Amino acid sequence: MAPTIAVVGGGPMGLAVAYQLALEGAKPVLLEADDRLGGMASSFKFAGQTLERYYHFHCLSDNAFFQLLKELGLEDQLRWRQTSMGFYMDGRLHRWGSAGSVLGFRRLPLLTRIRYLLHAARCLSLSNWQHLDGIRATDWLKTWLGAKGYSLLWRNLFAYKFYEHSDSLSAAWIWSRIRRLGQSRRWLKETLGYLEGGSHRWIDALEVRLRELGCEIQLSSPVEAIWSNGPGRGAVIRTPAGEHQFDAVISTVPLPLVAPMLEAGGADPTLVARYTSQTSVACACVVLQTRQPITTNFWTNINDERFAIPGIIEFSNLRPTQGHITYVPFYMPTSHPDYQRPDSSFITDSITCLKAINPNINDADVLTTHCSRYRYAQPVCGTHFIKSLPPDHPLPGITTVDTTIYYPEDRGISESIGYGRKLAKNFIRKRLWCN
Ligand SMILES: Cc1cc2nc3c(=O)[nH]c(=O)nc-3n(C[C@H](O)[C@H](O)[C@H](O)COP(=O)(O)OP(=O)(O)OC[C@H]3O[C@@H](n4cnc5c(N)ncnc54)[C@H](O)[C@@H]3O)c2cc1C
Repeated sequence: MAPTIAVVGGGPMGLAVAYQLALEGAKPVLLEADDRLGGMASSFKFAGQTLERYYHFHCLSDNAFFQLLKELGLEDQLRWRQTSMGFYMDGRLHRWGSAGSVLGFRRLPLLTRIRYLLHAARCLSLSNWQHLDGIRATDWLKTWLGAKGYSLLWRNLFAYKFYEHSDSLSAAWIWSRIRRLGQSRRWLKETLGYLEGGSHRWIDALEVRLRELGCEIQLSSPVEAIWSNGPGRGAVIRTPAGEHQFDAVISTVPLPLVAPMLEAGGADPTLVARYTSQTSVACACVVLQTRQPITTNFWTNINDERFAIPGIIEFSNLRPTQGHITYVPFYMPTSHPDYQRPDSSFITDSITCLKAINPNINDADVLTTHCSRYRYAQPVCGTHFIKSLPPDHPLPGITTVDTTIYYPEDRGISESIGYGRKLAKNFIRKRLWCN
């Protein structure tokens, strides 16, 4: 008989796990806490259009995403565009990102500019990352760029995303981020992708396909507790609607959120502590619709002590939208006092920042604003990261994975889809629910 498997979390990974389980002949039941699917990749109505809550773009290497689009009949809806980067520093907007713009960046000594390009080339040529796992990202960047290069180019980006965790990130993690973007080039020009109409289109299409395949989808169903019935005897989950027995449970929610579920299910406190100890920073992400563009860039890094903002993302310089759309992310640990600030104060800071970057912008140009928050927006991947992770099969019949499982890759839609599908395929073919 086909196993019934609970998939906890309806973000890209949970959707992919459920999809592949259904294709393999299992009976998945998808449980999502929110009233919508998509997790970090979900969308909302903003200024008369459906927009991602958080900016999302695709890279040329996102193969698992392309494969899914093909299966959903959406592959011809993917668009690619040459994009540019900028750097706002010393009250000026500089060109950035291409070899020519780096060489022409006179704010840095010539030797530092050359070292920067050598480092970028090294990131692209490197494929074995294991030796970087134990090295701190900040040390690695200082070695390559020198103290001044690090201070001007990277210090604020780390400080305004990771705060007290800036010095603990692993070099392997930052390497994979630099490489992913660096590889997304055609004829040396940065080339990024988007789905015509927005990310909600693939999520909606997958929801339809899941229902056709017999997958049950339960929205507004937060899982409160999970426990195992012992080897080969399945597992139980509890939601506000009651207790439900399954042949297995696969959780795809951020690992720190698994801790209370296991604890409520009576798991050993030492096991629970391995989930609680995973660190993640939150994001308050402001989106603004303005009458006119701020810059011509898709991404503009910021190094300016006035703003706790690592960069702005002008989404309309990638995907056509109604009005000009810009995202301004404020990342921070939830222990930071700023996390208590109301959304309106992040919006005010964002507008001040946009006006500083482009003095032609005034208050009347800002048409609509919104701020979305995601508590577990970015895991902090420290040195020797894999050793710090809890086991992915903590108890018989229970699997717990999240975006950190594909470390050193950073969280990404394609990575979550690719990993989720591989996991589900293995799970059924190796009959892992019987263990
Ligand atoms: C600001 C920002 C920008 C990003 N930009 C990009 C980008 O440009 N390109 C890209 O590829 N990726 C980007 N990402 C990352 C991408 O969105 C994630 O990698 C992807 O969404 C991860 O999917 P996931 O399913 O693994 O996790 P999540 O999206 O976190 O999904 C987890 C799901 O679990 C649900 N859940 C939580 N608790 C429970 C519970 N108790 N019971 C049931 N369900 C629960 C949540 O509601 C959520 O739906 C970005 C992320 C952020 C925050």
